[in-house]
Amino acid sequence: MIDLLKTEPAKVTEVVDEAPGLKTFVLEPRAPMEFDPGQFVLVSRHGVGESVFAISSHPSEGARIAVSVQAVGKHTNVLHELDPGESVGLRGPYGNSFPIDEWRGKRVHVIGGGIGLAPLRPVIYSLLDRKNEFEGLTLVYGARLPELLVYKPELESWKSGMDVHLTVDEATNGWTGKVGVVPKIVTDLKLAPSNAVAVICGPPVMIRFGHIALKDLGFKDEQIYTTLEMRMKCGVGLCGRCNVDHRYICKDGPVFRMDEIDSLG
Ligand SMILES: Cc1cc2nc3c(=O)[nH]c(=O)nc-3n(C[C@H](O)[C@H](O)[C@H](O)COP(=O)(O)OP(=O)(O)OC[C@H]3O[C@@H](n4cnc5c(N)ncnc54)[C@H](O)[C@@H]3O)c2cc1C
Repeated sequence: MIDLLKTEPAKVTEVVDEAPGLKTFVLEPRAPMEFDPGQFVLVSRHGVGESVFAISSHPSEGARIAVSVQAVGKHTNVLHELDPGESVGLRGPYGNSFPIDEWRGKRVHVIGGGIGLAPLRPVIYSLLDRKNEFEGLTLVYGARLPELLVYKPELESWKSGMDVHLTVDEATNGWTGKVGVVPKIVTDLKLAPSNAVAVICGPPVMIRFGHIALKDLGFKDEQIYTTLEMRMKCGVGLCGRCNVDHRYICKDGPVFRMDEIDSLG
């Protein structure tokens, strides 16, 4: 158990400014970290704090662990001051993962909002690597403003392997693409539920209305996956901070099918 909680130093090798208040840090762990799409790590700055972040990098590149960090409070603001060459504490990977193998032969609709694309990026990498195994791939991704869209160069390159639909709530800075909240675009696109699964992650309000939009299109809860962000501390089911019923979001999640979430309540 002690090993499970062990924090190792990791070097910051790259800092990417994704959007105002949002940076991606590429970390080099002491030894390559094997992880599956959907898992998370805990990153710490000695004497300041420790925070949970979804791993947002390619699952086959465990020597480079990326986390995309929104500066929202004390610890994340300190992390934003990190420069390449500095070190952080890193532990994990923890949590369950998206059951990508179970989706073989189906169309996969990936639906993201804002920083919610972070846990979905490893899913997209994996799907694109194996794209012939799926009936088709869709990405619907949006942000409040064009400058808040993350991973911009990749959003372009992914277009060669999947149907990419980008949207913003408000068209500023010369935006000429779709305008409207993500659930509305899901409805407008009439995403087909037949032989399909949907994966949705974003702000709680987007997940709530995205879920309703998918249900209205005929998706069943068993076809819809999401990942939950709940306050957690240990990350391994010991401290009870994220305990709901008999389950721990950190250990039994953070990835859930919608029918499993209903039963969490
Ligand atoms: C499974 C999981 C994955 C996450 N992935 C990411 C990620 O990829 N990128 C990212 O930027 N953040 C992610 N978070 C949230 C991140 O852990 C918190 O934003 C961070 O710990 C805040 O630390 P702080 O000291 O800066 O803020 P604090 O000073 O502790 O809090 C600042 C504000 O953020 C809110 N907050 C703090 N923690 C959480 C939380 N866990 N969920 C919701 N609101 C919170 C507080 O209520 C408060 O309003 C994830 C959380 C979980 C549980």
